[in-house]
Amino acid sequence: MAETPDVIVIGLGVMGSSTAYALAKRGLRVLGIDALAPGHDRGSSHGESRIIRQAYHEAPDYVPLIQRSYALWRELEAESNRKLLWQNGGLIIGAPDGRTVAGTIKSGQLYNLPYELLSPAEVGKRHPGVRLPEDLVAVLEPQAGFVLAAETVRTFQELARANGAALHFDEPVLSWSTNGDGVTVTTGKGSYQANRLVIAAGPWSSSVLADLGLPLEVQRVPNAHFLSERYDHFDSEKSTVFSLLVPEGHYYAIPGPEKIGFKIGRHDSLPSVSADDVQPAVTDDEITMFRRVMDHYLPGSSGPVAAALTCLYTMTPDKHFILDRHPEHEQVVIACGFSGHGFKFAPVVGEVLSDLTIDGQTDHPIGFLRASRFSKTQ
Ligand SMILES: Cc1cc2nc3c(=O)[nH]c(=O)nc-3n(C[C@H](O)[C@H](O)[C@H](O)COP(=O)(O)OP(=O)(O)OC[C@H]3O[C@@H](n4cnc5c(N)ncnc54)[C@H](O)[C@@H]3O)c2cc1C
Repeated sequence: MAETPDVIVIGLGVMGSSTAYALAKRGLRVLGIDALAPGHDRGSSHGESRIIRQAYHEAPDYVPLIQRSYALWRELEAESNRKLLWQNGGLIIGAPDGRTVAGTIKSGQLYNLPYELLSPAEVGKRHPGVRLPEDLVAVLEPQAGFVLAAETVRTFQELARANGAALHFDEPVLSWSTNGDGVTVTTGKGSYQANRLVIAAGPWSSSVLADLGLPLEVQRVPNAHFLSERYDHFDSEKSTVFSLLVPEGHYYAIPGPEKIGFKIGRHDSLPSVSADDVQPAVTDDEITMFRRVMDHYLPGSSGPVAAALTCLYTMTPDKHFILDRHPEHEQVVIACGFSGHGFKFAPVVGEVLSDLTIDGQTDHPIGFLRASRFSKTQ
């Protein structure tokens, strides 16, 4: 980039790439920097797919943000001329008074979103690949579905470049600092000045934002793809996605094209790890664990293993994101702690971070995501 950038974005996972695109589209000179290669599998944004849903059981506060995100996903598809979002519906499976079922219904009622509470018999009739014991129910959310993961990150990066952004890969940021109204970012290849800085470093946020001492925990997440014996029940053009909060634990599952396979992953009881470590591969015990859950509740979805991969969550204590301006440096904007459920929000996170970068504030309702909720003085 010949000219001094207006803004530097550290981290080009899905959040940094979405932000680089949103800022470049608003006419800013953007420099994006990532420590690793495009499409790497060391962070949180790689792999085939991610679940998207609106009747948000984590907290109703997210609903306005996810509704805006849905609109932006469709805009992204139009601008890139790519299909990235499938709305085949979602089955939120659990105990009738469990937090996922009850939370989905609460958000659905509060925001008048479509959903249906189904008994095991109704589920069996309408979703022949699903078998529920009598003590569980399912909430069908018709607007839920899945988005493509790696393809979306690529799309944001291509559109950011198409709007003039410069993206550097394999260039770790060693330090950043503020000076007067501007910022300086130093890498092994040089120093860059700009007016603003966005930090979206994912599982490495504790080190890039060491000055803040945020309570972030990185977790290793195993997931695998299986070539379903009954692909007809789990066809990715028709099948719902699944959230299963069951006695075996909390799992999510996403249908995939026949050759890619049906994806399942665990969402709870995950080991804390260091983001710098190369994670151990998915174990046979983890594959057996997945098969047990699939054979019990989604018979016919399992089969030969097509792929197994690990990925990283960055958890906050309350499992809510951190989207905010840096409490000590107003020219710096931060995004981290997506706690295993941020991907579906990536388009609107890009919009929020652009607002905070350009205007210092946003109209989006992010009050509950402020970093100050963790500050020592609180
Ligand atoms: C297995 C799994 C399943 C998930 N399922 C879902 C789902 O179904 N639905 C959903 O909504 N969400 C889901 N999520 C969560 C979602 O994927 C994440 O919230 C999201 O990908 C976070 O993106 P990020 O850009 O913050 O992090 P990352 O993608 O990790 O990006 C951070 C980037 O910062 C770079 N970086 C770090 N330090 C430096 C440095 N010093 N210098 C330069 N660059 C640096 C890294 O190289 C990395 O590329 C899932 C996550 C996982 C792991």
